[in-house]
Amino acid sequence: MSLDSSTLLPAVRAFLSSPKQLLIDGEWVDAKDGKTFATVNPSTEEVLVQVAQASAVDVDRAVAAARNAFEAPSPWSQFTPRDRSHLLWRIGDLIEAHADEFAQLEALDNGKRVEAARDGDVATAAELFRYFAGWATKMEGTTIPMSVPGRSFHAYTRREAIGVVAGIVPWNFPLLMACFKIVPAITAGNTVILKPAEQTPLTALRLGELLLEAGLPAGVVNILPGYGDAGAALVDHPGVDKVAFTGSTEVGKKIAAAASVNLKKVSLELGGKAPNIIFADADLDAAIAGAVLGGYFNEGQCCVNGSRLYVQRAVFDQVVDGVAAAARAITVGDGFEAGAHMGPLVSQEQFDKVLGYIRGAVADGAVLSAGSADPARDRGFFVSPTLITGVTEQMAVQTDEIFGPVVTAIPFDTEDEVVAAANNTVYGLAAGVWSNNIGTAHRVGARLRAGTVWLNTWHADDVTLPRGGFKQSGWGRELGSFGLDDYTELKTVIAELR
Ligand code: NAD
Repeated sequence: MSLDSSTLLPAVRAFLSSPKQLLIDGEWVDAKDGKTFATVNPSTEEVLVQVAQASAVDVDRAVAAARNAFEAPSPWSQFTPRDRSHLLWRIGDLIEAHADEFAQLEALDNGKRVEAARDGDVATAAELFRYFAGWATKMEGTTIPMSVPGRSFHAYTRREAIGVVAGIVPWNFPLLMACFKIVPAITAGNTVILKPAEQTPLTALRLGELLLEAGLPAGVVNILPGYGDAGAALVDHPGVDKVAFTGSTEVGKKIAAAASVNLKKVSLELGGKAPNIIFADADLDAAIAGAVLGGYFNEGQCCVNGSRLYVQRAVFDQVVDGVAAAARAITVGDGFEAGAHMGPLVSQEQFDKVLGYIRGAVADGAVLSAGSADPARDRGFFVSPTLITGVTEQMAVQTDEIFGPVVTAIPFDTEDEVVAAANNTVYGLAAGVWSNNIGTAHRVGARLRAGTVWLNTWHADDVTLPRGGFKQSGWGRELGSFGLDDYTELKTVIAELR
């Protein structure tokens, strides 16, 4: 089945039949200056729909709405933890009920496969609401003994909402990234202004409709599609208390600098260049399958993509042959195409960037063991899954985050040598080790400087697990029981018992 309008659900066709607006204070409104931008289907390069483009003046309106919604005696400030819990659960159910619709919108706007969007992005988004529904009633403090001779005290801590949170997200998991910011923020009682990526605003806007349908009070979540200038206006705004950002390390540094002016709270989920280490004693079939998944899942547009493969010399050729054969067997096609395994990259810009890195590696003398420096199709932003050998640690393809279906492979001899090479990066988001020796796996895992380490697996994940980066891959942790900490202030209360 290939994409024509009859493939699309009536609800998706209806959604795309009118220009999309900004969500401010519970109302759908045009940008104040009337500006719009086109969002494009990366499989066909055709415009899907025009979307209102927020600017600084819309940011002012949204911040005012979010502040109003936060401060007592607003309806949101009267929500008990149980009210928030029930609301979160209801939103999870609504997402699940509209899963096919979300999956089609994601496939159209981002390019990923409909099944991948439905079973991965959308299912996880629904689960995220349900998981955090449990935490809303469990934001507990502690009682802490004080030792002051001759006097008596009762001291305890409270977890309180921070206030107005700006969530700024990228295009690789558009719905899911939006939920990563919205869900913990509203679980803790904050209000939110979300800025989706300019490449993929649609599922966040559809989510906005469902949030209102579920009964979220006006102004609690505001959604402002737009470009980096709208994101920067949010970061600069004195009415924003916290910025939660997922995106590139380059933009993350700008945000950290801008937010320091009034010392807003900042959490950052940034780039990666994950090393995937295969020892000769590993289950090689599993390791090869893991390297393929780690390298090419989500078209390689994944911050925890296993883009640097290190293989012990005795099995280097065998692993390279296995990964190359599997890469060649991957068929590209639009998100709706039967038999296709991989969609296009998200945009012309990303397509040009990724092909540029592959061409650069070839010019530097590296070898394409699979894939190509040419487009995989005449139309759309399709790149073949590529495996590059003959690489040195100095080549750009080895040092830079490419964010596409490009894996490099380098042989190693000793554990110390590979640990040093794996850690020789400014990033520290994820890493992996394959070995049937339990000692090797855990010992090397402990030596790798990364926020997530996979042993004999890749991309295994759950909303219960914290994630985040060492080094220049970020500040803070998302999800799991730690996921609320960055969305709350810790207050200490000291009472003298007279
Ligand atoms: P990006 O940094 O270019 O953009 C991310 C978001 O920031 C977009 O919404 C963009 O409009 C906005 N933005 C751009 N300039 C801004 C500015 N000056 N101030 C405020 N906002 C601004 O990233 P991208 O290309 O959309 O996404 C890819 C990057 O995201 C990769 O580096 C990837 O590793 C990273 N990422 C990280 C994680 C993680 O969990 N660590 C997850 C997904 C993606």
